[in-house]
Amino acid sequence: MPRRSDLEHKALQFISRTSDEGVLQVDLWHQLKASSREGSRIAIKLENKGFIRRERELFGGRWTYRLYPKKEPVSIISIKNCPCLICSDSIRCGAYGAISPNVCERLTTWAINLIHEKKSVPGDP
Ligand code: SF4
Repeated sequence: MPRRSDLEHKALQFISRTSDEGVLQVDLWHQLKASSREGSRIAIKLENKGFIRRERELFGGRWTYRLYPKKEPVSIISIKNCPCLICSDSIRCGAYGAISPNVCERLTTWAINLIHEKKSVPGDP
């Protein structure tokens, strides 16, 4: 029988991959081969830790919960076109050196452009 912390970790991984769709609590426990009682406890624990949110949903005439991740999985898309990836100074670059991300114009320009791109996406806050 898997330990509860293992199940908690597996549940969080599974929920994180569902993104905006979320997953019905009952489907998740079937997937993880856990009992509904154990599953409910884990879902509440993950919610209390701030990792997921639960929303009540009527499914097949019964109330259940749909579980959504609160944090998106990290994606390399977030560093797409970052100048550091192809920078010839990257070996010498450091927080306290002469070459530093603290004063790098290329990095600053890239970050500012990201903000402008994000603002121009319809529906994004
Ligand atoms: S912060 Fe600037 S200098 Fe440093 S690695 Fe990135 S692009 Fe190069």
